[in-house]
Amino acid sequence: MKQNSFGLSESNLHEECGILAVLNPVSKESNSIEGLSDAARSVFYGLFALQHRGQEAAGIAVCNGNRIHLFKKPGLVSNIFTESDIEKLQGLSAIGHTRYSTTGSSSTNIQPFYIETAHGPIALAHNGNLVNAAALRQDLLNKGIGLSYTSDTEVMIMMLAAEQGNSWQERIASCMKKWQGAFSIALLTNEGIFVARDPWGFRPLCVGKVQNGITVAASESCALITLGCTDSIEVEAGEILKLTDDGIEHCMQIAKQEQASCIFEFIYFARPDTVWNKACVHTARVNFGKELAKIAPVDADIVIAVPDSSRSSAIGYSQESGIPYDEGFSKNRYIGRTFIQPTQKLREQGVAMKFNILGDAVKNKKIVVVDDSIVRGTTMGPLIKMLKNAGAKEVHIRISAPPVRYSCYMGVDMGSEEKLIAHNKSPEEIRKHIGADSLAYLPQEKMLLAMKNSGSCSKYCCACFDGKYPIDIGKASKKTDFE
Ligand code: AMP
Repeated sequence: MKQNSFGLSESNLHEECGILAVLNPVSKESNSIEGLSDAARSVFYGLFALQHRGQEAAGIAVCNGNRIHLFKKPGLVSNIFTESDIEKLQGLSAIGHTRYSTTGSSSTNIQPFYIETAHGPIALAHNGNLVNAAALRQDLLNKGIGLSYTSDTEVMIMMLAAEQGNSWQERIASCMKKWQGAFSIALLTNEGIFVARDPWGFRPLCVGKVQNGITVAASESCALITLGCTDSIEVEAGEILKLTDDGIEHCMQIAKQEQASCIFEFIYFARPDTVWNKACVHTARVNFGKELAKIAPVDADIVIAVPDSSRSSAIGYSQESGIPYDEGFSKNRYIGRTFIQPTQKLREQGVAMKFNILGDAVKNKKIVVVDDSIVRGTTMGPLIKMLKNAGAKEVHIRISAPPVRYSCYMGVDMGSEEKLIAHNKSPEEIRKHIGADSLAYLPQEKMLLAMKNSGSCSKYCCACFDGKYPIDIGKASKKTDFE
């Protein structure tokens, strides 16, 4: 594994995650000892709805007015917290986090991060990735501030603690101007919970109200709905909001940059029932599939999806082409996203452990397989082999996104460029490599057209496809520069 200049695993600097926050007002009727664990319990339930954003570790930090208590561990939400762990997390406000990193499992960088400051205790949950983390880290070290971990989130919380300002919102605003990159954050303080998004709007974050004056925030609207929220609003890019006893308060708006929401949230990451930038993820994926069917038709008997993230696109392909949709794979639901496994060998084993073929459905058939992306090219080859072994006559691969050619520095860790199969292979070379009868990708302009057709007029970061980074990714922040 690569080491950065601090002798620490550089891969740990890059994360994709889910964040959640719940604030129960002090006046709440159930402000009894039992009711005090409501905030942590709600965060616990909400984290289940964000499990797809990170399966490596999770944590909850709770504030009881004066102190913050923290519980975090590696594993899935369902395995980490017992009833008695939740009972111990007493307090009316809480934040939570599910963590994902693509390589190397590290139990040390689990969020939320928590520290005592001159202005009281704080805990921070962060989704995204700062491209200038290395420089900011060095600044802190030069100032004599010690650091123990390799996470940019630690850098962020230390900066918040050391920042000048009369209030948390001022300190957050000052830090936001120094943070370059993707960040959707929830900051737990003894004055309330602050949530904020970077000025480019890379990662999603929304807030809402539940009954009894409870306010909530989450990476995705699906988690707010799980918590009983009927109405949610999106935190604006560059906006700082505060969850308080009186509701949701707008604190400040940092100057916005040209908007660059992550298109990969729609392609792969977000849950289909999430709505972001006015578009429902499922609808967007159906429309990707429809566009794909228009530009890359095939004479086939059935359309199947690689479950689960490409189901909606496969349905769209089927609707547009008139070719019946069927299930071709049985997926073991109890195995996480194989991409997350730390080594290539483990990832390959993961494919076989994760999927079996529905033999009767595919035998003697010409099949269109729709998947949302080919990243390293590990998954598709073995899947095609399994389909052919089960008697499929032809296997045509249709990808509901353009080829992934460039690394993401804004929070979706797909690996370094040389590991991306499309970085230096043409679609035809990839087709041969995976053993498909044909392969077609959705062109970028059609993908963006599908977003418009889904109701979203936002601007999207497509850097993983076209290499046009919305921010200067900077020499110091490139992965290899940390070695
Ligand atoms: P690969 O085998 O490396 O080509 O990965 C492609 C598969 O991983 C596809 O089936 C995607 O659904 C999934 N995938 C794409 N991007 C990611 C990501 N950032 N993290 C985890 N899985 C991903």
